[in-house]
Amino acid sequence: MAADCSLYTLTAAGHSRRTRDTKFHSGSKLGRVVAVNRARIVYEAPRVTAKPGESVVTSTCGHNCGGRCAVNAHVRDGQIVKISTDPRRWTPEMPPLHACVRGFGQAERVNHPDRLKHPLRRTGPRGSGQFERISWDEALDEVAHQMLRVRDTYGPAAILDCSRTGSLSTLHGRGVSQRFLHMFGGCTELWSNLSAEAEIFAVKQTYGAKAEYKSAGREPIDYVNSRLIVMWGWSPGDGTFGTGTMQYLKRAKHHGARIVSVDPRVTRSSRQLADEHVFIRPSTDAAALIAMAYVITSQGLQDQAYLDRYVLGFDEAHLPPGAPAGASYRAYLMGEVDGVRKTPAWSEKITGMPAATLERLAVELGTSKPAAIQCGYAPGRTIHGEQFHRAAYALAAMTGNVGIPGGNSGTSNGATGRCGIRLLPAGTNPTGARVASSMLADLLDRGRTGGYPADIKMIYSVAGDLFNQVPNVARIVAAAQRLEFMVVHDHFLTPTARYADIVLPATTFWERNDVHTPWAGAGHYAIFMKQAIEPMGECRNDFDICSELSRRLGITGYNDKTEEEWLRELTGGVIDDFDTFRERGLARLPAPDDAVAFAREIRDPEHHPFTTPSGKIEIYSMTLAAKPDPYGLGAIPPIPTWIEDEIDSRYPLRLVTPKSRARTHSIHGNQPILSRVDADDVWINTADAIARGIVDGQAVRVFNARGATRLPARVTDRIAPGVVSIKEGAWFTPDTSGADTRGCANVLTADRTSPAGAAPFNSCFVDVAPIP
Ligand code: SF4
Repeated sequence: MAADCSLYTLTAAGHSRRTRDTKFHSGSKLGRVVAVNRARIVYEAPRVTAKPGESVVTSTCGHNCGGRCAVNAHVRDGQIVKISTDPRRWTPEMPPLHACVRGFGQAERVNHPDRLKHPLRRTGPRGSGQFERISWDEALDEVAHQMLRVRDTYGPAAILDCSRTGSLSTLHGRGVSQRFLHMFGGCTELWSNLSAEAEIFAVKQTYGAKAEYKSAGREPIDYVNSRLIVMWGWSPGDGTFGTGTMQYLKRAKHHGARIVSVDPRVTRSSRQLADEHVFIRPSTDAAALIAMAYVITSQGLQDQAYLDRYVLGFDEAHLPPGAPAGASYRAYLMGEVDGVRKTPAWSEKITGMPAATLERLAVELGTSKPAAIQCGYAPGRTIHGEQFHRAAYALAAMTGNVGIPGGNSGTSNGATGRCGIRLLPAGTNPTGARVASSMLADLLDRGRTGGYPADIKMIYSVAGDLFNQVPNVARIVAAAQRLEFMVVHDHFLTPTARYADIVLPATTFWERNDVHTPWAGAGHYAIFMKQAIEPMGECRNDFDICSELSRRLGITGYNDKTEEEWLRELTGGVIDDFDTFRERGLARLPAPDDAVAFAREIRDPEHHPFTTPSGKIEIYSMTLAAKPDPYGLGAIPPIPTWIEDEIDSRYPLRLVTPKSRARTHSIHGNQPILSRVDADDVWINTADAIARGIVDGQAVRVFNARGATRLPARVTDRIAPGVVSIKEGAWFTPDTSGADTRGCANVLTADRTSPAGAAPFNSCFVDVAPIP
């Protein structure tokens, strides 16, 4: 298909906009073209030519993995024998979608000897792993019977939906179970996003109700326009965070952007990109950002004209009517109400970041326009994580960097979102029963006596491994013993599936058709996930399983279309040639009008106000001022504020749980070949190791009051003193005493929540001891 091009250029006003052109521009850095857009969709086949006797089928991993790449299956005699990826060389304008190592590991996964291939019924104690093979009819009859029994005996809220993002795509994703349970009469839902709820919340408070976190950042092609990039708790080199993000960052660095990394660990991204690395104590990031705001304000480096025009709440002159005196951010920074000036020295005591370093970084941020703060989700996975994100967005606004080329809102997603491609409609939950996800252990344990909507009697889990992936595993599995019934759809007998009464074998994405869009909301493309092989053994699609159950339960209208009809409908209005899309595999879609989110609001605020109550960027949230405790989980101040977490002095080390490059959360956790890419170990600073008599490689016990696990120690100065890290997602494998033996981090983390519903994985205290 012929493509006429339209390109992002900088306008005279300095804004990055899409314009029609057919050439690539060059010239000064800020004059360069920053994105290519095709006005029409271009369909590409991102794969090598098949050899005789094989077919090469394009798909992408249907997981919550951080990227969205071309992952091609080489199929011989009905079996996937090899994986390859997009063979083209990288260019910024038309980047190929190169797979990460997990994509190549899909061959090991789909052909794994432990793959579930027929339904199972539990025969031993719950969690023992003892099951017998049964027929589909037996399994589905039992599940239907138990669903009706539990609903009619206790009400639908006694059924808990523990489904998650193990299968993540347009049709065969989480909507399958949500739609099913909602149409059945409802359930209790675990509502909050375990990765990013703090950011989801903060984006809406600061940038407005219609602002979506996946489209509140900037397209990576704009990175080159930044003079300064601060990677704050953000490591796309470990967690991917958008296919090609590392290449775009390297390009920005090559063109002169200075890159600073603030993180408790010297990450892969920091090693490869950063001109400077600054350690910080986990769970204290908001204090550092607030002190940077203090430095900028006290030295008069804020962009006052920008603040006056676009921002609510920086100073007393820009507060909404009715706000009390001293409610502005400036008053808070200067200690006008609490008597505490938020100086670098004040921050150093909390964060461990040297005051002089912080002051220098703040001045640099205030004088290096355009500058971008790129935040990861990890600092928001803390007990007041929303304050971290709000403080970062406040700094972006104070320095006039929101909505301009080379600047950024403070998020690290793209500006595109889902490109208009819709998800299977899930409907709404008739019970309205909702619980913050990180409270699963407390919910199962205490039910109504803990103030929750129901006593949970049954769990329904599709593509979820929440017993492993939410905090306080020991409490979860103990409480699970009191369940009356539990059903799991999955590919393997995961740590969660081991506790089920009925396990149903599901297809992987290779065994069905689907469509997927970029994880980070950046890059404006879609991939057709073409079926490569027939379902293995007796495996069925999750959607088909729920359809079968719907028939048994008398639910009408759950699934009234074929797979192809659904995909045509969900991509309708975006994909203009479905057959070509399915055949070729990759659709390059039109780019958003601006490469940077909120450019329109900054360019023309009168006609395009922010969707906050004031129409401005709200450092002072009018919504929170009116309703400080939106979820009944605790009050949130209207301005970004440092709130100290309780320190558990029994356990002197702070634990962080970053991503493994060998897993997507717990997916791939049973693959010995892939696991060699990124070893499971506990990072500990050299000084902390010496103090405990630990040497590199030694087996150690990591423990606190909630549990313990065992891992080899990695003694390194790549982690800050007083901090240890364990990569999240290793499979809970208890010994006879119940202690974990394989490095499952969530035996240590606490079942708590931030007031905004964030899961505080990174607010955790532990100690480490050598195993003799
Ligand atoms: S980033 Fe995601 S989609 Fe890309 S290869 Fe890795 S696991 Fe697959």
